[in-house]
Order: sequence, then C-alpha cells, then structure tokens
Amino acid sequence: MKVTLVSKTLELKHAWTLARGSTSSKEYLYFKVEHEDFTGWGEAAHNARYGETPESVRTALEQAKTILETSPEVIHTWQEWLPNLPQDQAAARAAVDIACRDWITQAANDPFFLKATDKELVTSFSVGIDSPNRIRSKVAEANAFQVLKIKLGTKQDQDIISAVRQATDKPLRIDANEGWHDREEALRMIIWLASRGVELIEQPMPAGQLDNIAWLRERSPLPLVADEDVCGVDDIDRLAGIYDGINVKLMKAGGATAAATMLEKAQALDLKIMLGCMIESSIGITAASFLAPQVDWIDLDGNLLISNDPFTGTTCEEGKLLLPTKQLGLGVEERPGALL
Ligand code: MG
Repeated sequence: MKVTLVSKTLELKHAWTLARGSTSSKEYLYFKVEHEDFTGWGEAAHNARYGETPESVRTALEQAKTILETSPEVIHTWQEWLPNLPQDQAAARAAVDIACRDWITQAANDPFFLKATDKELVTSFSVGIDSPNRIRSKVAEANAFQVLKIKLGTKQDQDIISAVRQATDKPLRIDANEGWHDREEALRMIIWLASRGVELIEQPMPAGQLDNIAWLRERSPLPLVADEDVCGVDDIDRLAGIYDGINVKLMKAGGATAAATMLEKAQALDLKIMLGCMIESSIGITAASFLAPQVDWIDLDGNLLISNDPFTGTTCEEGKLLLPTKQLGLGVEERPGALL
C-alpha cells in the first residue's frame, strides 16, 4: 500500500465572492491510494468557514496515511476507523472516504454507488457577488444552464437581482450565505424575491439562529434551506420543522458515505434535499454526482468554476450532469501531468 498526499492550487475562472469574503484560488490536498492493481483518489476541498486550513487537513491526512500503510487490510473496513480521524476535519475525512470507496469499488468490480440511475440530472450554476455589469456577463456565460444560484447577502442584493433579471428569466435559487442579520429585513427581501421568479432561499441568516428561521418560515412564501446550519448527520434532527430542506455537501459531511447517510435521515424526516459542493475539482463533484438521482435540487458546479481541474469525471452538458462512462469505482482520470 502506497499513500501519497498531493498539493494542488486550483485557479478560479472568476474571483469568487460571497457575503463573507473573496478568493481567486484554492490550495487543496489530494489523497492517492495505490494497492494491488488499483488506484483510489480523494480530494479535501477544505473551507475556512469551518475552521479548516491546508495545515489541519494535512495533519489529518497524514494520520490516515499511517493507518493505511501500517495495515493495508484496513482499507476494507475504512468506515469503522474513519470517524477516529479529527472530528473537526470533515474535508480530510471526505478525501479518505472517497479514495477508499474508489479503491474498493474498483477492486470489487462495482460502481462508486449502486443506486445511480438514468434520471436527468439538472444542476444549477452559481453566480458569485459582483457588480451589475459583471453579473450580466456572468449570466450570459451561464447560457447553457437551466437554473442559476445567485449569491446574495449584501447591501446591493436588489441591484444584483435586477441585473440578473435584465439578462435572463430563468428560475433562480438564492444563497444569502448567512448575510442577512435582521429577520424583518430578511422577510421583506424574501417576499420581494418571491415576486421575481425565485425558487428557494438558502441560509438566510447566520447559523445558530433557529428561532429566527422558525419565525421566517412561518411567514416566508419560499422554502428555506439550511447550509451553514447543517454539516453532519447529527445536525439534522434539530432542523426538522424549522427549515424546509438541507444542503448536503460531501466536504461538510465527511465523505460520500456520510452524505448518503444524511440523505436517508433527511428523507425520513421529510426534509427536502439540495446536494451541493464547495469549489472543488472533478473528484469531489464526481463522488457527489452518484448521489444526485436521490435529491430535490442539484448544485454540483464547483469544478466548472475552476480553470485547471486536474481530473476528468462527471461532465456537465447543457446544464445536465453526465456520470463517468467508466463503470468501475469513481471513474475519474488524472489529466496527464496535471498534478506535477
Ligand atoms: Mg450555501
């Protein structure tokens, strides 16, 4: 068993601006498992919002490397020891989970998840915060997509939506990224947005304000979806009856296996499900795409926002996800030399 950590800086096509800040590149770690005749790949798309840094990810991945190289047979029981990696390092656990599942499903001659279907998988495409002129050009660039996710949570939210509406009449999903701080103002904005072809509102207020969310939901004409308010499966129970749905991301959940468990839990509690992502390359997006047939809203566009994706896997054509044609494991391929 050989395990390698590979660092790669992903460059964004556009500076990525949310209510909480702006970035133009992401330095991520990849987790490569080589054993017998198979190679498994994982990606840790960490997020500073959840206290993760390249250093904290590396520390957690080094632990997993030691575990696997010391006792290679434990790759078969990875779900048993994965929770022992640091609890606050979900992206690192996701990388290990994806790599182990990739390796095992290739060795067993299986696809990454057995449930994939031929259902049409329409994803939204995200438009970050920008000036009205640049918003209009980004919307034009997103011509192929059937639905857009618009980032709000600023003082210019109405200007942003007006710019979007000058360019398109497509359905919109709104992500406020915790950016609205007064519930009365948030409600007025939601009512205004409802009259402008918006389908849902994601994380309108800062995480932890469930009383305010319950108040908003009683009055909101649009469904409210938790993102920063939900990371892992243990967060879901308290959101039932408060939010209409949750945004499940592999990098918050700690992997594809954990995300699949979250889908089951949310379905049991009658919560709607968005399947989302961080800015991440085709490893994370491909791993998530196998779960996409099970969800209400797909938001898997992270790989489309970067200009130097080191991998190919699930692709997106006319706003629809196409899973890898390779039938074994995750089905991703490294672009030659991309990680050198
Ligand atoms: Mg979000």
